[in-house]
Amino acid sequence: MNTLSYNDLEKLVKSYAPFDIPKLRRAFDYAKKHHEEQKRASGEPYIIHPLNVAYILASMHADIDTLCAALLHDVVEDTESTLEEIEQKFNKNVRDLVDGVTKMTKLDFNNKKELSAINIRRLIVSLARDPRIIIIKLVDRLHNMRTLEYKSLEKQKSKALETLEIYVPLAYYIGACQIKDELENIAFKYLKPSLYGDINKKREDLKKETKDILEETKKQVEGIFKKNSLKAKLEIRYKDNYSIYKKIITNNKFETIHDLMTIKVLVKNVKDCYTALMLIHENFTPINYRFKDYIAKPKTNMYKSIHTTVFGYDNHLLQFQIRTYDMERVAVFGLTSYWFKYKNNAQNLMKKDLEDNFQFFKSIKEIDSTILDNIEFVSRVKRELFSSNIYVYTMSGEVVELPNGATIIDFAYKIHTDIGNSMVAAIVNDEAVSLDHVLENQDRVRIITDEEAYVPKEEWLNKAITTNARNKIMEFIRENENTEVDKPN
Ligand code: MN
Repeated sequence: MNTLSYNDLEKLVKSYAPFDIPKLRRAFDYAKKHHEEQKRASGEPYIIHPLNVAYILASMHADIDTLCAALLHDVVEDTESTLEEIEQKFNKNVRDLVDGVTKMTKLDFNNKKELSAINIRRLIVSLARDPRIIIIKLVDRLHNMRTLEYKSLEKQKSKALETLEIYVPLAYYIGACQIKDELENIAFKYLKPSLYGDINKKREDLKKETKDILEETKKQVEGIFKKNSLKAKLEIRYKDNYSIYKKIITNNKFETIHDLMTIKVLVKNVKDCYTALMLIHENFTPINYRFKDYIAKPKTNMYKSIHTTVFGYDNHLLQFQIRTYDMERVAVFGLTSYWFKYKNNAQNLMKKDLEDNFQFFKSIKEIDSTILDNIEFVSRVKRELFSSNIYVYTMSGEVVELPNGATIIDFAYKIHTDIGNSMVAAIVNDEAVSLDHVLENQDRVRIITDEEAYVPKEEWLNKAITTNARNKIMEFIRENENTEVDKPN
């Protein structure tokens, strides 16, 4: 049973936003009064749910409007309360957040699938309005997943599946990895209980077997760092069950997974990261092809770190993840890490960061503006963004994120419309390929353009899988319908 109380929340918020306590109290009282008669499936008073959601968000140093919205997030859907009243008692900001997290239910939809698609679409496109809406929804889902045991078996399975299909990719894209990891591990437990049990047992056995030698290694590395006057904090971590499962279903044996055991090394600046790396490689034999520098080249969700796998004791492979404390915050919290640094302006910085740096955000906006039908929208997003991705490089080393199965045509249009429109040939890893060539992870791609040949072919439509490329091709064809257009050969 959850024993969290309002006082716990207040204490936590006091530690970083003491002046906001009166408003927090008001939101709590309002929510408590409106949920008074309701109970959760666990038998607890309903208020325990919004209270937990607010508490998790407070541990991420969320601003006061977000915390109010978290406390109030279910009142409009489940009680007599209205958005107008929330605006009047709190402010427009809180109202908009509550509005964003409230599902459409009142509309008279006969079609359940359509209604569910509308709600998923609302959730996904809310990113463009205010990223905090998605963050509240993710935490709402997280608490519901933590308490899923009280629901029927059928509900457990359907919630777990929806979590894996929609919420986990969203959490990944905004870099909220702590939430993502917990969500996918709970979902995995409910969807494949026996497989989960098997993997969990192997993991526990490995932990028992390696606990001492890992502690020993950690001490040794701490000694090496100390001798070289490098200040660092080291943490031991075992790969989680769902990540192990993902490796196993792609034909890896448990024993050969290279990052089952990790020692995380936290240091204060980038220079210290490379010093730590040098010292580790001096003392342990690295596996060269397992070295990754995400500091020089961050992941598309802004994750930064150095990864290197070495031979540890007893031939056990051991991974080191080296990063600064700032990078660690982004690794754990992603976009939400703005809350720690910038109290009042965080949501605007989140939005700007999304627009400037997150490739998936552009794709979502593109699909949203192209596809009217809600069910089609959801299936497109699932196919193009929420299933597995590949990451390829331009010749200048930019990382381009594309869905699995994407071709040269998709790549070219993702770089720039003009490049797509004037493309005549392509080279992948130094070899000439056809334009419908399907790209693979880590490919290096060069597009050859010719302005004289400024004509995309209609047949390309069948060779592109992204909404972006198909839109641009159709746009070109439409615009040139009245002028002279090359017939497809
Ligand atoms: Mn809720």
